[in-house]
Amino acid sequence: MKIYSYKDLSKQEIEEICLRQLEDDSSIQDRVKNIVERVKTEGDSALLDYAQQFDQVTLTQLYLGKEEIESIAADIPAAEKEAIDTAYSNIRTFHAAQAVSESRIETMPGVNCWRESRAIERVGLYIPGGTAVLPSTFLMLGIPAVLAGCKEIVVCSPPQKDGKTNCYLAYCALKLGIERIYLVGGAQAVAAMAYGTESVPKVYKIFGPGNRYVTQAKQLIQSATMTAIDMPAGPSEVLVLADETANPAYVASDLLAQAEHGTDSQAILVATSLNVIENILKQIELQIQDLPRKDIAAKAIANSYVVLADNLEQGMLFSNTYAPEHLILSTTGFEPLIPLIYNAGSVFLGNLTPESAGDYASGTNHTLPTSGFAKAYSGVSLDSFLKKITFQHITEQGLTNIGRTVEVLAEAEGLQAHKNAITIRLKS
Ligand code: NAD
Repeated sequence: MKIYSYKDLSKQEIEEICLRQLEDDSSIQDRVKNIVERVKTEGDSALLDYAQQFDQVTLTQLYLGKEEIESIAADIPAAEKEAIDTAYSNIRTFHAAQAVSESRIETMPGVNCWRESRAIERVGLYIPGGTAVLPSTFLMLGIPAVLAGCKEIVVCSPPQKDGKTNCYLAYCALKLGIERIYLVGGAQAVAAMAYGTESVPKVYKIFGPGNRYVTQAKQLIQSATMTAIDMPAGPSEVLVLADETANPAYVASDLLAQAEHGTDSQAILVATSLNVIENILKQIELQIQDLPRKDIAAKAIANSYVVLADNLEQGMLFSNTYAPEHLILSTTGFEPLIPLIYNAGSVFLGNLTPESAGDYASGTNHTLPTSGFAKAYSGVSLDSFLKKITFQHITEQGLTNIGRTVEVLAEAEGLQAHKNAITIRLKS
């Protein structure tokens, strides 16, 4: 891993190394455009064709119903069932606590304003299933959707080789009370949820990670169909800030956990001494040997880098510019750093809090902003499935109090009808 010294880097160099490689592959864009167009015009028949072409399965029906889901879920082994139950419970507890009701506010006597939350009625959840099926993503998206009260939750996941889904997803569906899983993957799943087909209902907002076809399709349908998406997505990343109190083996394991996601993942180490850096790099070399995905991890590590900082505060300056999806503070002195964090998706404090805990089971959501979007975006939460609607009610006294102000402002803007809407009421 290349080592930079923070104090030797210019502002421009810092910004350059913080830039992620956002892929702009025009061949993928063209392919996705064609897929989306075909689903829009041909509906289910295009989905059946794509299942054959990309997933190598012949489907007779595009979804699994309640009974099939129950029968597939029955095969889940006890240990995995218990682990899903624990993760489900923690994620549900954490997200349920995010429900807040706001007070009615009297901004001036007789003028009352307030906000109420309403669930987005129809949402679509994409659960990746190409190289691996991800029940954790199902929980992270399904739990807040159910808690928010979304009336229709459409779930799409690629069909597996047997033309079904696996027992983990089926068990998650049962726990969430979701009675149908659409066996549709890739860009065609996103298109189906955005336009609707004979089988797949159209939704108002699409959530979920996925490969380049999925993320490209989400961007495309957002502008073409006014379907909202959860957030722009790029390769996953972690930044670990470590000092002499960090455990080098733990830090190495966290960096490698990120690196095994994909060759384009970034695992950035910011450390306060060369000694700390050397010990961590040694541990990476040792631990990577035993990883089944060591080839992927090695490429990701080679694309990552280390920053030597004078102290933790300087390290935080770098981290805020990088704006990592995941930030791990591998130091016993994490507490004073918390107020210094401005840009990060999710933060893991101290030596015993690995990112993996948040990826699966501690309770926080793992669908987070990547590629520097943490400067302006939050991760998925209960709020992502809600809209806030404002209400107001004005009494006779309120109209008298606010009337003149509105008349003057409307007149100043040259909007006579706006002014009249007040004047006509004040007169009567
Ligand atoms: P996927 O479900 O995203 O994609 C599989 C689908 O891609 C297939 O069903 C097929 O329809 C389509 N596809 C495959 N080859 C194609 C081709 N040549 N042309 C058009 N479409 C094609 O599953 P995946 O491929 O395993 O990718 C999962 C991705 O999700 C990974 O990149 C992973 O890093 C990402 N992920 C991210 C997070 C996060 O929170 N950031 C979490 C989980 C997964």
